[in-house]
Amino acid sequence: MRFADIIGNAEVAKALASMADSGRVAHAMLMYENEGCGALALALAYVQYLNCSNPHDGDSCGECPSCRQMSKLIHPDVHYVFPVNKGPKTSDDKPTSESYIQYWRELAIANPYFVEADLQKAIGIESKNGLIAVAEAKSIISKLSLTAVADGYKAVIFYLPEKMNQETANRLLKMVEEPPEKTLFIFITHAPEKVLQTIFSRCQSIRVMPLTKDEAAQVKALNPFDDREEYNLFMDLFSDLMNAIVARDLMAALECGEVVAALDSREKQKAFCTFAGECIRKIFMIQQNMPQIAGIAEEEPEFYSAMAGKCGKTFCSKSITNIEKVVAMIDRNVSSKILFCDLVNRMFLSV
Ligand SMILES: [Zn+2]
Repeated sequence: MRFADIIGNAEVAKALASMADSGRVAHAMLMYENEGCGALALALAYVQYLNCSNPHDGDSCGECPSCRQMSKLIHPDVHYVFPVNKGPKTSDDKPTSESYIQYWRELAIANPYFVEADLQKAIGIESKNGLIAVAEAKSIISKLSLTAVADGYKAVIFYLPEKMNQETANRLLKMVEEPPEKTLFIFITHAPEKVLQTIFSRCQSIRVMPLTKDEAAQVKALNPFDDREEYNLFMDLFSDLMNAIVARDLMAALECGEVVAALDSREKQKAFCTFAGECIRKIFMIQQNMPQIAGIAEEEPEFYSAMAGKCGKTFCSKSITNIEKVVAMIDRNVSSKILFCDLVNRMFLSV
């Protein structure tokens, strides 16, 4: 990432470049942004500039070996820390950022303006809280105590230090206070008030400004997680649910309900309900012998015809009513687990 590629925050980029030019490189920096405004992009461009072997015109060259390694996020002296948890994408019992580094790279290369929910999705822990645990501190300390592979700076880009507990912070503190020579920590936070004071007070803070409407639109265009991905997720969930219902497997159906209840936001749960309602209407249209207006995509008619044959005549209308009730309840602080468990039960009984 070069400074020239950053969307918005030209002043911050300029300040970082002149900090690097002057040689007054803060060894601990805290970048505070509203989610998705480019702090990570700025941090990457800054480290790339510092380590570039042929910088010119206030920017990195983008072509030297160091820049090329940076652009793939595989520079051996640059480390990434972000909140993780156990999940299906790693077998590690005490996962650290390293356990998920390939997913981090894919995500950040495709779109360095990602938000925390994108990261959770990318590493497969949507329903859990990401944490920065003490194992992470140990791993960073051991990485930084090795000699730098290249000639430049060693850096730790630390995404969301507010997700670090006291024990982790205590472990890291000495390293942040007195880092080895030419080593820097860049913390990126969305909630500076939650960053432990011991860390906060040792950092030079930088405010990354909110994006303008135009800039935000440019960022949005980078987002690789388009509707297609959500469609696939919802379709898989809905077809698993329906297959379980028609197979009379209540346990499997309830498990699908739990997955929906664990979607990472109420908005997403509602979006799933809307999606499921649309799918059930398609089944209804086939039952009514009107497949031509059901709006079924070319790749999916078999599923809908199979379901139309297996569900009773009143299933669709009852299910749509029940789904609409759930949508109304989602915003009323009712436990989503109870709501979706009840919905699945009702669908199971009315098939
Ligand atoms: Zn370069």
